[in-house]
Amino acid sequence: MKEDSNQSEYKPKFMEWGIINKENFSSIKDVPIKRWDPLSTVIITSKDFGFREERQRFYGHYSYLSPIRGKRPIPLKTMEDKKNDLGDCSEVIWKGYKDVFMSVLEGTPMHNDWGSQIGDGFTIIIMEDEKRRDNPFLDIPHKIEKIPESCKALTLINRYPSMARVVDQDIKVSIEKLLSRHSKLAEGINLITLSRDFYPSLCFALIPDDVLASIFFSMKAAILYAIEEAIDRDYYDIPVNPFFNIGTKVGGSQPRIHSQVYIDLNGDGHGSRLEAYLQAFKEMGNDCHLCKSTHGGSNERRIILETNFWAFFATGSPVRNYHIRFHPKEHIRRFTQLNVNQLGDLAKSIKAIFEALDKMNVDKNRNILFTCVPYGYDADFHMFGDIIPHEIIGGAEMADDMRVARKSPYEVAEEIRNAITS
Ligand SMILES: [Zn+2]
Repeated sequence: MKEDSNQSEYKPKFMEWGIINKENFSSIKDVPIKRWDPLSTVIITSKDFGFREERQRFYGHYSYLSPIRGKRPIPLKTMEDKKNDLGDCSEVIWKGYKDVFMSVLEGTPMHNDWGSQIGDGFTIIIMEDEKRRDNPFLDIPHKIEKIPESCKALTLINRYPSMARVVDQDIKVSIEKLLSRHSKLAEGINLITLSRDFYPSLCFALIPDDVLASIFFSMKAAILYAIEEAIDRDYYDIPVNPFFNIGTKVGGSQPRIHSQVYIDLNGDGHGSRLEAYLQAFKEMGNDCHLCKSTHGGSNERRIILETNFWAFFATGSPVRNYHIRFHPKEHIRRFTQLNVNQLGDLAKSIKAIFEALDKMNVDKNRNILFTCVPYGYDADFHMFGDIIPHEIIGGAEMADDMRVARKSPYEVAEEIRNAITS
């Protein structure tokens, strides 16, 4: 076989980068499905969110079934990976560490010290910092020629996504004929934003503020680009979920700091939790809770950190112990409306809080989730985020939207406040 050169073409295997075409399609059983649970799915009848009439929408519980995600190559664990699982941040461990993204950034196949290939260098790159590169619907992966030295963060299409992004029209029609009523082909864009230089995600203290801010800037620019192109292709009413999975215990399979964005292009509604948020904000009307709340009052404060732009607080109804919620002080609906000052300040603040949690020996495996109003919805909303450290949860908690927390949010807030200032 000939060695890859930068000019060579790569034919994507079934569902790599969300591509389904005549060449790689084999069987319906591997198709990514969005499946609504018939026992919790309700048709949205109201015109509350300004929906167009021509399509049925739901809210409820749904699952993305994506067989390819189970097949993605996860390399055998090296000593570095094992230490990463423990959140070991000593520099000597990470010096010269090679990951799959290094191969992407250098546009060349890369092997680990034992000679097994960790990456072939092919990718689809949407953003180099905030500069547009490939179209979010591009279907030809390639190697990156050169990333300028100044670049701090990049946004790529996820190679092993939960949703199909570019689907051959004939195949799409035949897939849809075979699916049952509550199932559909899961369509969407899965983005991944990473730092150009390697920083282990469990070692937040090592990530410079400006690098984390650059990850936010690149995410924002990429979402805007993807939405613009999606609307151009007649997709509408688009839920967008930006998030970080930090650590293998909460879904982060790569050790390098990275965020993800799920852009759902099915246009068929949203989950039951988002429905509850949308209805709650609707009920609040002009009396927005996040705009006026002091989060626990002036004596028993649940506030953890307050800056010119953001408030962070221990939420009064935690889904895990040490669950922290945060929101911009400005009443805005989406992540993409955050400006450069708000995003820069967010990077600094999250870092300060993560360092405080580290000092308190809170599990370093954490999720950061942003909740925003979907594109196309005519709904009032105040965007917010959650920082949720990993914890094992029990039975009753899986059955309903309920959690048992053992720590008082007031104590949590006080402990974190003390850890930030000490
Ligand atoms: Zn508000």
